[in-house]
Amino acid sequence: MTIFTFTVVFTTKYPMDKFDAIIIGAGTAGLSAGIALQKAGKNYVILDRKKEIGLPVRSTGALTTHWAKKLGMPMDKEIVTSPVKNVSFRTDTGKKISLRYDEPVGLIYDFTKYEKFLADKYAGHLNYRLETNVTSVDGSIVHTDDGDMQADLVIYASGPQSAFGPRLKKTEVLVAYEEIREVKQKDDYEMILWFTKETPGGYIWNFADSESTRKIGVCYYPLSGIQPKVVLDNFTSRNRELDGNMLHSMAHQIPLAAPVETVIRGNSLYVGDMVNAVLNTTAGGLQGAFWTGKIAGEAVVAGDLTVYQRKWDSEIRPWLLKHHNLHRRLHKKGPKSIGRIMTLAKFMPLSTKRRMFGGL
Ligand SMILES: Cc1cc2nc3c(=O)[nH]c(=O)nc-3n(C[C@H](O)[C@H](O)[C@H](O)COP(=O)(O)OP(=O)(O)OC[C@H]3O[C@@H](n4cnc5c(N)ncnc54)[C@H](O)[C@@H]3O)c2cc1C
Repeated sequence: MTIFTFTVVFTTKYPMDKFDAIIIGAGTAGLSAGIALQKAGKNYVILDRKKEIGLPVRSTGALTTHWAKKLGMPMDKEIVTSPVKNVSFRTDTGKKISLRYDEPVGLIYDFTKYEKFLADKYAGHLNYRLETNVTSVDGSIVHTDDGDMQADLVIYASGPQSAFGPRLKKTEVLVAYEEIREVKQKDDYEMILWFTKETPGGYIWNFADSESTRKIGVCYYPLSGIQPKVVLDNFTSRNRELDGNMLHSMAHQIPLAAPVETVIRGNSLYVGDMVNAVLNTTAGGLQGAFWTGKIAGEAVVAGDLTVYQRKWDSEIRPWLLKHHNLHRRLHKKGPKSIGRIMTLAKFMPLSTKRRMFGGL
């Protein structure tokens, strides 16, 4: 057999899979992009190295109903563990604002069920392959530890500190750690955010996740070198009502850098945490991930990638930038600066306060 015939036999036996688009990452951003491609009947695949959709848990899953409705994010009962009915902001310098709402102002997803819903129900069963680690990309060829694939376009949705994105500095990323603890029934459904000296750039959160459990977590710039669990335990030892048996914990990172300027490069589109689509004031990234994924997917369907860049420039980036700059001001002098805003808020009409603190 000549070399030529050998090559023909080899490539016929193992033809390279070809797609209109390959999405790297099956988190909120990648799944949202997949939904747009699925709806348009495109030939795409979502690749992720994880074993199961929704695991490991990467998020508390808190979202305002304002953003869920605005972006068409799912609000189905089967994926929501609890509503958020009230919100409260507190500092360790003794400042406090508590707001009550007539209707739930937010919701908490069961994160695993939420991602599974996006992957298998929202637009039908998406085409995803798990346990597939993308090792590198050369133009239209995507190399994985399970072989090579080819695509006209690649959507990068591989999350914070990914090998395909920039390495963020300590002042551009929050470490985040959360525990679900069994605590005596306390069905206030109040989201409480504490701004403390131990959590520069971030805060401590605490709210009822069910009638017998609470999610308690911390996020902050990792400048002190103190482990998040230690920060959390120090806090709960001062707030004994939060002491309880730990059922689950999770840790990850949240980008808090300014939103990037360019979201498309050649045949590549970048979405979600990769482009810092995180609302810096709350460190919430689900809306930004869903929104950027959706618009990037729609741009691919339209056959015009600039649709995504234009929407990013005109709406998404200015929204993120506003929160980025506000966050810098809020945290300039730690809890003191936040305390000052809270004092000012006392003089605001209730409707303004409710909108300002509940619509994030
Ligand atoms: C502790 C914590 C609590 C949070 N709480 C909230 C909250 O309450 N509300 C909110 O709005 N936001 C919250 N966030 C932020 C929010 O979770 C993220 O902004 C959002 O999940 C980002 O989605 P993404 O799709 O961009 O990235 P990810 O969800 O991180 O998805 C990236 C995916 O890419 C895959 N991947 C990476 N590299 C590769 C590779 N080489 N090959 C194959 N697959 C790869 C990963 O396995 C992963 O599944 C929280 C974050 C943390 C860490």
